[in-house]
Amino acid sequence: PSANDPAYLRGLNTPQREAVLSSDGPVLVLAGAGTGKTAALTARLAHLIATRRAWPSEILAVTFTNKAAREMRERVGKIIGEAVEGMPWLGTFHSIGAKMLRRHAELVGLQSNFTIIDTDDQLRLLKQLIQAADIDDKRWPARQLAGCIDRWKNKGLNPHELDAAESELYANGRGQELYTAYQDRLKALNACDFGDLLLHMLTLLRTDRAVLEQYQQKFKYILVDEYQDTNSSQYLWLRLLAQARKNICCVGDDDQSIYSWRGAEVANILRFEKDFPGARIIRLEQNYRSTPHILGAASGLIASNSDRLGKTLWTEVDAGEKVRVLGVWDGPEEARRIGEELESLSRRGISLDRTAILVRAQFQTREFEDRFIAIGMPYRIIGGFRFYERAEIRDALAYLRVVNQPADDLAFERIFNTPKRGLGDKALEKVHRLARATGLPLSAAAFQILDSDELPARARTALTALMRGIARWRDLLSTMNPADLVRQILDESGYTQVLQAERSVEASGRLENLSELARAMEEYESLGDFLEHVSLVMDNEASAEEAKVTMMTIHGAKGLEFEHVFLAGWEEGVFPSQRALDEGGMASLEEERRLAYVAITRARASCTIVHAANRRIYGQWTSSIPSRFIGELPAEHVEEESSLTGGASLWRAGLSERDDPFAHLARDPERAARRGPGWQRAAQVPGGFNATPQRVAEARSSAISLGNAGRSDVAI
Ligand code: ATP
Ligand code: MG
Repeated sequence: PSANDPAYLRGLNTPQREAVLSSDGPVLVLAGAGTGKTAALTARLAHLIATRRAWPSEILAVTFTNKAAREMRERVGKIIGEAVEGMPWLGTFHSIGAKMLRRHAELVGLQSNFTIIDTDDQLRLLKQLIQAADIDDKRWPARQLAGCIDRWKNKGLNPHELDAAESELYANGRGQELYTAYQDRLKALNACDFGDLLLHMLTLLRTDRAVLEQYQQKFKYILVDEYQDTNSSQYLWLRLLAQARKNICCVGDDDQSIYSWRGAEVANILRFEKDFPGARIIRLEQNYRSTPHILGAASGLIASNSDRLGKTLWTEVDAGEKVRVLGVWDGPEEARRIGEELESLSRRGISLDRTAILVRAQFQTREFEDRFIAIGMPYRIIGGFRFYERAEIRDALAYLRVVNQPADDLAFERIFNTPKRGLGDKALEKVHRLARATGLPLSAAAFQILDSDELPARARTALTALMRGIARWRDLLSTMNPADLVRQILDESGYTQVLQAERSVEASGRLENLSELARAMEEYESLGDFLEHVSLVMDNEASAEEAKVTMMTIHGAKGLEFEHVFLAGWEEGVFPSQRALDEGGMASLEEERRLAYVAITRARASCTIVHAANRRIYGQWTSSIPSRFIGELPAEHVEEESSLTGGASLWRAGLSERDDPFAHLARDPERAARRGPGWQRAAQVPGGFNATPQRVAEARSSAISLGNAGRSDVAI
């Protein structure tokens, strides 16, 4: 480094400088978390522009999210000033694909003002096509077809390019036929879906020399962040564009590949050297983000994966705190503890903006939201809605409101045809008219309209079923507890069934949210109390300027960093997720482990991992096994702390191993067998075991004998 270095080089280490300065030829930066990959890529972008190797409009720069694109634009802007304004090709694969496609729409049979349809439109369209093809959409739901089409597009396959095995994935080999019909229909509508944004361009680049050459000439340099999460279609697209000049620089980390469920292929990293012979491979090993203990814990954890390229990481940062593993009694205590920790950080002058709670699944934020509202802790949720604002939760709440309060017209409108039961706008209009004429609330008018012959037979049957349901649920209101009631409503209204039939990752997320809703309701005596609580929660919006703790999924946190990170719910069946465990296979477990690695490496100064000994599932207390990932953290980097005392710790001792609370039964079946049948079952059933009645009785009596009456009400 010399004193005349331009600003963007100052402070960069030697391999980072190499990544910035080696402007021509293929470059692959392969390095662990927090080693300054994104920083180097940004400096490289600045360098190319500052040294006039290319105009801003001649650089293609791909980031994983729009937020990342914005940040990169800002950072480059600080370095090169206004020139950054003219960077049209800095964005996500989707945004860049859309921009290109608008310019060449005619060549793929669209007009340049084509619409990009969302998931809802897509499903509606697919459903029509499925029915037109005389396929039973109960057996072969539209969602499933959407999933297949997504998969094919991620692989860069057009309908005629599907082989029999792919086509077999839907309706016994009718995948190709439906995919063809769908693409034709989209073209007729002058529309495309998200997958098309890339697929159409890819197809064009493959078949139209002139277009290909135009872009190969145009993009003098190509830069790609988070390269490990590109799918095949994105990879093929990049390869074509880079083929002529070969000035492509990709940065990534195979250990952070967490999107294989969306078609990402780590193998793209390995293919890079083959496709671009003579590629310069740069490894960054110095981590600038985290303390040695955080890094040591993360590295030790990821070492359990077999399928990896392997790398070393070191840091100059002083030792700092160990990663804290905190055992708590249950979900509410988890939220309470983390809330207390955040308050104490805040008292020490640390802005909440520098803190985050990361979860494996969206539903996990609910417990925190409830707690934080109660104590006035400001929070923001990124990459998702606040719990009670999610569509499925609003739907469920609408049912509850109608049952609780017959005059709630808004809620009634929402559930009228949700789930779809063939009650269209016309039927609703008729109910409205009657309501206006009689002065009755909508739901009362709906009862009345059944006595007339206003509705056509089909609508009448559907409405009769709905209104009978509502009458029955209202009767149950006084005798049944709210949590059971909502479960029954969701079942009887057909809501759960529709989601179950979808068999998609998204739908199971929604189902998880709904069971979380029921769980939340278990704490309330009456439906009215609960609904009041919800309206208070919904009303409570922290002000914009106020510092807030961030809550998000680990997937959403990729590439980000926070001073203090809390990782909640590290229990078997939550993380690793039950889905990953059910699928079995090493691959899904290794992806979960990479996710854990991403989670820990978001932290700069402190990382706290929390696991609860009990979770309430379907009204039953179930003891949880700490995540196997906790057991995989090297002991020298970890400090364990348990808040389980008195009756609780006895309870725990009865259920888990006193001297080794993180034992991994699943990996040691012999030991499990020696401990008895309950343990053996725990070993066989990943995700925990239900305590036997006898053990519960023991634990309960020990809790009582300690005078811990508060816990003696634990019901299983
Ligand atoms: P991830 O794998 O999580 O995406 P990354 O490799 O992209 O991480 P960056 O986000 O670029 O890492 O950098 C991590 C942190 O280290 C940032 O706060 C960044 O500003 C800082 N950093 C990067 N390079 C250096 C450097 N040479 N000197 C000091 N700090 C640096
Ligand atoms: Mg990065």
